[in-house]
Amino acid sequence: MHHFAYRRGVSQANVLHAEEVDLSDLAAAVGTPFYCYSTATLERHYRVFVEAFAGIPDTLVCYSVKANSSLGVLATLGRAGAGMDVVSEGELRRALAVDVPPAKIVFSGVGKTRAEMAFALDRGIFAFNVESEPELRALSEVADARGAVARIAFRVNPDVDAKTHHKIATGKAENKFGVPFAEAPSLYGLAKELPGIEATGVHMHIGSQITDLSPFRNAFALLHELVGTLRAEGATIGFVNLGGGLGIPYRSDQPEPPRPADYARLVAEEVGDLGVRLLFEPGRMIAGNAGILVSRVLYVKHGASKTFTIVDAAMNDLMRPTLYEAYHEILPVTAPEPGTRTIVTDVAGPVCETGDYLALSRPLPELRAGDLISVMTAGAYGAVLASEYNSRLLVPEVLVAGDRYSVMRPRPSYDDMLAKERLPNWL
Ligand SMILES: *Cc1c(COP(=O)(O)O)cnc(C)c1O
Repeated sequence: MHHFAYRRGVSQANVLHAEEVDLSDLAAAVGTPFYCYSTATLERHYRVFVEAFAGIPDTLVCYSVKANSSLGVLATLGRAGAGMDVVSEGELRRALAVDVPPAKIVFSGVGKTRAEMAFALDRGIFAFNVESEPELRALSEVADARGAVARIAFRVNPDVDAKTHHKIATGKAENKFGVPFAEAPSLYGLAKELPGIEATGVHMHIGSQITDLSPFRNAFALLHELVGTLRAEGATIGFVNLGGGLGIPYRSDQPEPPRPADYARLVAEEVGDLGVRLLFEPGRMIAGNAGILVSRVLYVKHGASKTFTIVDAAMNDLMRPTLYEAYHEILPVTAPEPGTRTIVTDVAGPVCETGDYLALSRPLPELRAGDLISVMTAGAYGAVLASEYNSRLLVPEVLVAGDRYSVMRPRPSYDDMLAKERLPNWL
């Protein structure tokens, strides 16, 4: 569920609104393209996820910052009570900048540098998700040198197929993530010997946009077994981090993915009896449906075999269609007049790449130059993946709350873009 819907605008036409804000007015004020996020949707998704686990005594929901790291989004979720899952010092600094308590922060990623470890230790984060033996040894050295203790969970790779796009599956043996399941017991043994390490958690994250609960069930059952094994060998396991990955609906013509309540029931069934603190790292599920990308049609181009609707947003602004072959619903911001013809068109941007498209062969109400479109479900892995490719300016990000809006990241000027660089002194 989200808070983007058609309502009567000032001009009496049915206009897509973000909560109470008319998106055509917003486009006039901010210019296109821009990302727009809904506070009510962010808060609702966080609440629904937390409430799904109301029956489980000790849980911590750490929003996965990489899905959407806009400070306003983080502050909204932080105020609602969310912890954060970060994958770099930059993300950690963002979470701290909006006053998320370090005790609610976990640090993931296969390539943490020693400098990042030191920074996180000095801030007193809750735990590190450790992904290899060399990383464990480095963390031990860094922690020991500062007289600190790093609480850790090994991220175990259960070798299960998450049944999602291959670029976002992370729990197969051939993926770079986590430590092999079979090696986990000896790594916990090693961790006990190393100074500065307290290995009291187990972590798992098997992929993203998972729309079938069975991979979760298989993975969590294995994890349950592993906790039993580790305990039998004398380890103290006080927390289990189940990662993120719950899928969201991108298309209204396909079956709904499992609801948080279904996922929570499965969690309770598979690991509810472990007597541990349960952590979760949802990203997409919180932010995905809470954001859209608004763009303007520049030209309608009739090719030899296809119609191309050329818009002012491109793959550098929203990479998901070309990177993950992702489908994003596209809605005209002004609802089409009754009787408007539906045409089949590619929706493409100005970037000089064949892979630059937002939709391929999409039936859409016929659009004209100047019309606004909204690319739906763009709140997660949208703006965070944007680049200046083709020297295009980074897209602004706007947060709406009721009838208010704030341009959280303004569009830079071309001077701003050029001012970030230096010419070598010999040129
Ligand atoms: C990306 C990531 C997540 C979030 O995944 P979603 O599919 O967005 O819920 C959680 N944990 C880790 C370790 C990740 O890398």
